[in-house]
Amino acid sequence: MKLSLRTKLSLSYVLVALLLVAAISFLSNFFLDKQFQSYVLSQQEQKNKSTVTRINQQYNDNGKGWNGVNLENIGESALEDGIIIKLKDSTGKTIWDARLHNKGLCSKMLSHMEENMASRYNDFKGGYVEKEYPLTYNAREIGNVKLGYYGPFYFTDDDLDFISTLNSILLVVGAGALLFALLLGAYMARRLSNPISRVIKSANQIAKGDFSGRIPEISNTKEIGELTTTINGLAETLEGQETLRKHLSADVAHELNTPLATLQSHIEAMIDGIWKPDKQRLKSCHEEVIRINKLVKDIEKLARYESENLNLHKTDFDLSALIQNITGNFEADFANKGININFTDRKHKINADKDKISQVLVNLLSNALKYTEKGGSIDIELKETTDKIAFSVKDNGIGISSEDLPHVFERFFRADKSRNRMTGGSGIGLSIVKAIIDAHKGSIDVNSEPAKGTEFIVILPKHAE
Ligand code: ADP
Repeated sequence: MKLSLRTKLSLSYVLVALLLVAAISFLSNFFLDKQFQSYVLSQQEQKNKSTVTRINQQYNDNGKGWNGVNLENIGESALEDGIIIKLKDSTGKTIWDARLHNKGLCSKMLSHMEENMASRYNDFKGGYVEKEYPLTYNAREIGNVKLGYYGPFYFTDDDLDFISTLNSILLVVGAGALLFALLLGAYMARRLSNPISRVIKSANQIAKGDFSGRIPEISNTKEIGELTTTINGLAETLEGQETLRKHLSADVAHELNTPLATLQSHIEAMIDGIWKPDKQRLKSCHEEVIRINKLVKDIEKLARYESENLNLHKTDFDLSALIQNITGNFEADFANKGININFTDRKHKINADKDKISQVLVNLLSNALKYTEKGGSIDIELKETTDKIAFSVKDNGIGISSEDLPHVFERFFRADKSRNRMTGGSGIGLSIVKAIIDAHKGSIDVNSEPAKGTEFIVILPKHAE
């Protein structure tokens, strides 16, 4: 049988409370009994001693012997206290005997005590016991007294009342604790199960493909808080991927539309004989095909890099050597355009995916090359802190307007579409750069001013996590 978390929690609280109340009741009764027994025993001993002392004091040596009136008073009050006195002198003659004085009261008292003990213990093995004490006067034996009572110990009515009051208090406290546990259990169970129910609802929504729902309440229970955050994060990631997928299809269709339409019209014009398929026209068609091909490859690369599970093959390598290498590959292009490139080589080790960081550098440098006029210059700087490496690629080219700047990392974004078509830009280069940097848990920033230049700053963690 599957029980809900709420039922299970409430039941456990009640069970714990029940066990506690039972344990407290059992232990307190057990120890109370023990303590009480030894208290009653020591009380009995004290009563015996004080009775013997009082009896002893009634002896008078100046010919009068025992004071009978006082002895009777002592005997009667001892009887009320549960003690049956039998006093004999040194010759063995009975001076005072409670049984002879009031036999009925003695047996009534003993049977009452027996009843008291039977009410408390099922099988109490007790009965009448006697203790003998010698009596002396000036170091001379003057007789002995036997004190009889119900032994080994007994509880008076007051004692029994005390025990029963204590048990009633325990019962009330127990019932209160039980009720409190029940209420607290129900409250805690509600607090735990409500957010979990919401997480289940949200997870079901996600399973059905609806990623829009979020769990607004953040629980202060650590694990539930983490679960909520994880489910919210999952919904966000899936929603992001879904949007990415939808946009990518729309963007790709849109991007391919123009070059394909151009290509189609050119070829149709040649088929219809409107245009002669001369070398120039075929060359222009070929260029369009190359552009489409590059676009498709870029899209494919971007889709791979943007997917959450982009696999990085991290190795330790010298980043400055890599920059040196790549700028070397661009040397001819920079020289052709009359652009200066400045980079001071120093050793800077990093743990990262070398191929993908090369891609970042290639994209940034080819942009700098594309968007810097003849005679311009490009500066590459490399800095490192204890756990991070930062490099910047700065040009003094055409720059980017402040309206366009926030969008440069978006897919297919081009600041100036017509000019970009001329330079062959598809607006994917920086999206790829961003995807790679994100996968490395790094960051990329851009500063730019039209007609002054642009600077891209990349910060990467130095070591693998
Ligand atoms: P593209 O392939 O069009 O260069 P990118 O994603 O690399 O695509 O860049 C997006 C846009 O950002 C570019 O079209 C361009 O307008 C702008 N841009 C990127 N780098 C520079 C730069 N160094 N100087 C000026 N504009 C730049």
